[in-house]
Amino acid sequence: MTTGPEAPAPERVGALVVGTGVAGLTTALGLRARGVDDVLLVTKTPWGAGAGGTGGGSTAWAQGGVAAVTGADDDVALHVADTLAAGAGACDPEAVRVLCTEGPARLLELARRGLVLDGADPADPADARRWSRGLEAAHSRPRVLHAGGDATGARLAAAVVAAARAAGVRVLGGAAPADLVVEGGRVIGAELLLGGAPATGGARRRVLAGAVVLATGGAGQVFARTTNPPEATGDGLAAAWRAGAVVADLEQVQLHPTVAAPGGAHAPFLVSEAVRGEGAVLRDEHGARFLADPASALHDPRAELAPRDVVARAVGAVVARQDGRPALLDATGLGERLRARFPSIDAMCAAAGLDWVREPVPVTPAAHYWMGGVATDVRGRTSLPGLWACGEVARTGVHGANRLASNSLLEGLVFGDRAAADVAASLAGAVAAPHAPVGVEELVCTAGPALPRAELQALAWEHAVLLRDAAGLEVAAKTLDGAPAATEEPADVAALEDRALGVCARLLVASALRRPESLGAHFRTDAAGALPRGADRPVLLRRAS
Ligand SMILES: Cc1cc2nc3c(=O)[nH]c(=O)nc-3n(C[C@H](O)[C@H](O)[C@H](O)COP(=O)(O)OP(=O)(O)OC[C@H]3O[C@@H](n4cnc5c(N)ncnc54)[C@H](O)[C@@H]3O)c2cc1C
Repeated sequence: MTTGPEAPAPERVGALVVGTGVAGLTTALGLRARGVDDVLLVTKTPWGAGAGGTGGGSTAWAQGGVAAVTGADDDVALHVADTLAAGAGACDPEAVRVLCTEGPARLLELARRGLVLDGADPADPADARRWSRGLEAAHSRPRVLHAGGDATGARLAAAVVAAARAAGVRVLGGAAPADLVVEGGRVIGAELLLGGAPATGGARRRVLAGAVVLATGGAGQVFARTTNPPEATGDGLAAAWRAGAVVADLEQVQLHPTVAAPGGAHAPFLVSEAVRGEGAVLRDEHGARFLADPASALHDPRAELAPRDVVARAVGAVVARQDGRPALLDATGLGERLRARFPSIDAMCAAAGLDWVREPVPVTPAAHYWMGGVATDVRGRTSLPGLWACGEVARTGVHGANRLASNSLLEGLVFGDRAAADVAASLAGAVAAPHAPVGVEELVCTAGPALPRAELQALAWEHAVLLRDAAGLEVAAKTLDGAPAATEEPADVAALEDRALGVCARLLVASALRRPESLGAHFRTDAAGALPRGADRPVLLRRAS
């Protein structure tokens, strides 16, 4: 971790932004727009090689769309109310207000930068009145904007990548912070691991920065089943934790209810909630609509458009009672228009040998989105001076205990720009007092356990995601604590990821144990009689020093 006498002199930049998804690219663009030219953007995957021309991440994989109030029949207050309701009382109302109020302006900005949303007037793509608006679960109005049908993430990513290239943002691919550099309690840079090569022979570079912004996305790879790309290994969260930052809400993991499980050699793939928004229904293997039928034990008055956690648990229950055989997503009622509205999913179905216009798609739940993360305020400040976080790695409080569908691309746009504004002000000399959440508990965990990745993923899937109880969580905690500690000095990116996954799994289990009641996505089967912690008391953890 330390540089020896032969090590090259560290590079100095104004701002170091880690991650090239919607959050990192928006931050970099926001910094350039505010006159901060000295920005280095890094991504651990090769730059330009990811879908949408990014350097990897979930952004380009997003299908359903991006939620924002643009219609005359809609109102920011309604978007706020829907987000708070989905979040099960655990959102930060101020963060939600910021998200919903500033979202439309960020989308207009993006449309001016070249994102063509479906329905847009070719002569004026920024005329929001023309944009097509879809409905998704727990939204009271159709407000989900989309591009290329179900290719919203890829189109959005392409627009921000093009804008970053045009603005001359400097990007270094194949570079991952092995650790943050902390001096006197302040984050002053990062020790970059380059190209996944061994640690010796100059494969590390120390970068010192006036501000470090983490935008490294999620950690779905903690679980055996996930919708997330392979690079979603929680590296940024682990780096912030190791540096001493406060993390929050890590018991809150959202599952996506409808991940196609075609079986055989075909990989699972996501079937967007927007498909249910257009009218697709869920059935068990006998054809019964278990959510819509009032006689069903799994009935919910909102049927297939109930919040994600409700639908995911119902699908999980059906899969369990069918001895592991998938539930069925029946979109046949939509007919041929499925192909035009959801061309990417149509292609994935075809590649898996499924014709979803004529037959239902077998589906199971999978880990999708981590509501918790590095605790930040609405300016992106973490609890450590010099360190900001935005996008999925951050816990701003906008998602509470259950993210409202299509709010996360919006979060990246809104809070990426806000982080940029705050970093720019800080670099210009403004005092940036760190975020100071109260009620933080300490936990001993530095490097995390060294378990084989598949073993760790199976453990987290079995005990710490869809349904939880104290006994299962204790088994997971004991297994993780009983394993030897992961290396402090990862030799390559794979070892860095394994260390991060171990830290994330440990924090997940510790957080889930600290919330004895069910709340949103965190469902405790042993909650009856437990003294609740309460939605107003987030689980806040910091590494014991
Ligand atoms: C299949 C799928 C569908 C989705 N659909 C939707 C949707 O319709 N609407 C919606 O709002 N949200 C959707 N989401 C969620 C949304 O895509 C993500 O929450 C959002 O894109 C996260 O953006 P981000 O910029 O924070 O992170 P990401 O886009 O994940 O980017 C993270 C970046 O960090 C880099 N990185 C990671 N670790 C390191 C490291 N150690 N060093 C350097 N770089 C690193 C990655 O390579 C990547 O460039 C979906 C997610 C998935 C997986």
